[in-house]
Amino acid sequence: DGMRDAKMYEVVRVSDKKLVGEIIQLKGNTASIQVYEDTAGLGPEEPVFQTGESLAVELGPGLLTSFYDGIQRPLAAIAAQSGTYITRGIEVKALDEEKKWDFKATAKDGDEVATGDILGEVPETKLINHKIMVPPGIAGKVEGLKSGSFTVNEAIAKVGGKNVYLKQTWPVREPRPVASKLVATEPLVTGQRTIDTFFPVVKGGAASIPGPFGAGKTVGQQQIAKWSDADVIVYVGCGERGNEMTDVLTEFPELKDPKTGLPLMERTVMIANTSNMPVAAREASVYTGITIAEYFRDMGYKVALMADSTSRWAEAMREISGRLEEMPGEEGYPAYLGSRTASFYERAGHIQCMGTDKRTGSLTVIGAVSPPGGDLSEPVTQNTLRVTKVFWGLEAKLANQRHFPAIDWLKSYSLYMDNIEDYVRKNNGPDWPELRVQAMEILQQEAKLEEIVRLVGVEALSPKEQLLLDTAKTLREDYLQQDAFDEVDTYSSPKKMYWMLKSIVTFHLEATAAIDAGKELEEITGLQVKQELPVARLVSEKELSKLEKLPDKIKLAFRN
Ligand code: ADP
Repeated sequence: DGMRDAKMYEVVRVSDKKLVGEIIQLKGNTASIQVYEDTAGLGPEEPVFQTGESLAVELGPGLLTSFYDGIQRPLAAIAAQSGTYITRGIEVKALDEEKKWDFKATAKDGDEVATGDILGEVPETKLINHKIMVPPGIAGKVEGLKSGSFTVNEAIAKVGGKNVYLKQTWPVREPRPVASKLVATEPLVTGQRTIDTFFPVVKGGAASIPGPFGAGKTVGQQQIAKWSDADVIVYVGCGERGNEMTDVLTEFPELKDPKTGLPLMERTVMIANTSNMPVAAREASVYTGITIAEYFRDMGYKVALMADSTSRWAEAMREISGRLEEMPGEEGYPAYLGSRTASFYERAGHIQCMGTDKRTGSLTVIGAVSPPGGDLSEPVTQNTLRVTKVFWGLEAKLANQRHFPAIDWLKSYSLYMDNIEDYVRKNNGPDWPELRVQAMEILQQEAKLEEIVRLVGVEALSPKEQLLLDTAKTLREDYLQQDAFDEVDTYSSPKKMYWMLKSIVTFHLEATAAIDAGKELEEITGLQVKQELPVARLVSEKELSKLEKLPDKIKLAFRN
């Protein structure tokens, strides 16, 4: 009560314990406050302290390698302060304020700079150079800029008369400004054949992935974090069970960056918010994550954000909305579920960054959804599918058959094919789109024929149909399936994918022609060269020249 001068989304401290909260509704003199911590024991007459600030994140050196909770409190610092049990109202700084960073100025005194211009760099980790940018709202002449050793709170220069620091803050609910949004035409190369071949996502695009338990969501996300050509990874663990999160938190730090052998954490920021942490912080965690991701994008990096799971985020929204006694929409979710979901995914994009150097950056968002009972018609999934252009349908059935990655090739889709066509023709191979269509047709035909096979058996099929089943099997077992734990198979370059797919399709076309010319199916499937198709995936990237020869070798075998 007595909150007339408060503002929406202002951060407040509640009670003498100073619990962190945010104003989420104002009615006259009364504010509704969502407290981000356990509120047990609070009663009437407790004081509320206004801060005058909105929920914001601190952006600067020290973000990488960090583990944060939903409102950017570093878990390690919380643990150090409070021991096994987290005390409430704990105040820890998001960025280490003691640590000195080596700052190397790249601009100079007297330069006229605008928002987003780069003043210098801090080698934050061995993998990422942290660009220090002029914060939004500041522009003008640079004064007193010098290289040296600074903490995040020491001014490195004045710009337009205002102090600029290694860190800046930004309110999480507001997208960071960009110069313009660009059309995304480059795929995020993940090295995972099913994804890159049939269901690619662009750098700056949005993908959704439903996650039935045990279907390989964690392994899949780790594969993307490790192998994709994104520079920076932001992982938001949102509302999953504590033990699942523990898996992620313990496994991620052990992952190595394949290009350098350094810990993957050197280009990763983790945000962890488990199901037993306060629900409101869960709602905030997604925004905290995407704001950090946008910040690295603004430096000109390619960033990938993974949110697991957005269903738990939507549930948090539902819970808060319920307590506010708002009119519920479908299945009790607030009526604004659709617009909130859309505005989250809209923060993905390939952009021209603020700043006069016209650099570009991208933010790709991969959101996991966990539809209850695998029912894709429920509101969260439906709202997500409406705004994401890629859907990787994970199937528990495939996982049970040990077909990994368990992405259903008949249900999944990507609407980015046209965007990337020029790129893949140039980088994968000139006839890549055609090969992909031919392969997918074979897989779709197989699904149709399976029904007949079940009823009357394979023998009832024509030789050509039997050949099609055989090729489809090769595609499934030797192309779509990819073992994340095999040293070679775990990653396929676009070139490797091209030669693998080209070989399989070439074999199929040659075999079809041979059947038309009256050859027996056994004669064809018995060809020596066919033995090379299943082992193609185990050919290392260094020996790709072997694969390049395979299509011609197949043609020659048929001619002979
Ligand atoms: P989820 O996170 O969806 O519960 P996980 O990612 O933990 O599932 O996967 C369950 C198990 O499936 C893993 O422990 C692993 O044995 C297997 N698996 C998943 N993906 C792959 C893959 N690409 N290659 C090999 N095995 C996999």
